Amino acid sequence: MNRSSFIRNSSTILAALALCTNKTMAQLMQDPAWKIKMLNDNTGIFSEKGGTILFTITKEGMVVVDSQFPDSSQHLIDELKKKSELPFRLLINTHHHGDHTSGNISFKGLVQHVVAHENSKINQEKVAKEKKNEDQQLYPDQTFTDTWCEKIGKEEICLYYFGAGHTNGDSFVHFKKANIVHVGDLVFNRRHPYIDRAGGANITNWIKALDKAIDTFNDKAVFVCGHAGEGFDIIITKSDIKAFGNYLDKTLQFVAAELTAGKSKEDILKATTIPGGTEWAGKGIERPLMAAYEELILTY
Ligand SMILES: [Zn+2]
Ligand SMILES: [Zn+2]
Repeated sequence: MNRSSFIRNSSTILAALALCTNKTMAQLMQDPAWKIKMLNDNTGIFSEKGGTILFTITKEGMVVVDSQFPDSSQHLIDELKKKSELPFRLLINTHHHGDHTSGNISFKGLVQHVVAHENSKINQEKVAKEKKNEDQQLYPDQTFTDTWCEKIGKEEICLYYFGAGHTNGDSFVHFKKANIVHVGDLVFNRRHPYIDRAGGANITNWIKALDKAIDTFNDKAVFVCGHAGEGFDIIITKSDIKAFGNYLDKTLQFVAAELTAGKSKEDILKATTIPGGTEWAGKGIERPLMAAYEELILTY
């Protein structure tokens, strides 16, 4: 390389670096840590960290489903207050896990009611007691067992409980007019799920609950889930729900076959794929294998 081309190349690299740095800086200045995506004029999803939040703004107040963590829920509250001066009517928890309920506390004194399945409330209280952070909680003040509905503005919100799944207290939350369903952590879109056996999870019933959801909501419904794998969307369809149900089914079948073949727990947990269940197997696979093993070993 001669001297002039060295200088030319170096300056090109420097210019590229400057551009790159400027862009990163500009992005940092402009892009907040969170994202809001509107699904229609009044209803949207909020993502920052933890489980996806769904919200709707009606003429009678706002409704929020799940609350992530105290700092991220405060970001959401600040953004929603710019959009509406009306009060927060309802905060709904799809289930008790911390990445969906730790932010409840940010709604203290702001929201009129917190709603969840009765088992979700019991689990929230139990976990907070264990972690000795009861003073940082805002628990549900309204609970239900099978179905719960309320009309707010033109929207009607219904919660359905189809039995144990990811925990023993997961709700499907349907905004009927918008026809949007928050499935919480009942679907992990192309990602190995956390299965909370201590929190009452049951894979066998989880599969049935997903089938029931597919029958309950019509084909035009838009579904939102708590978590998705890298590169996959948290806005999902019935076919994604079916694919996740199939994955759970194949996980149980695989572990059952291994147990029948006399395989040890250690050998079963060594598997790197679930045959017929997924092409996205990998990180985190030991959790569903372990949960399936614990669920099935009782019957062997
Ligand atoms: Zn979650
Ligand atoms: Zn969860």
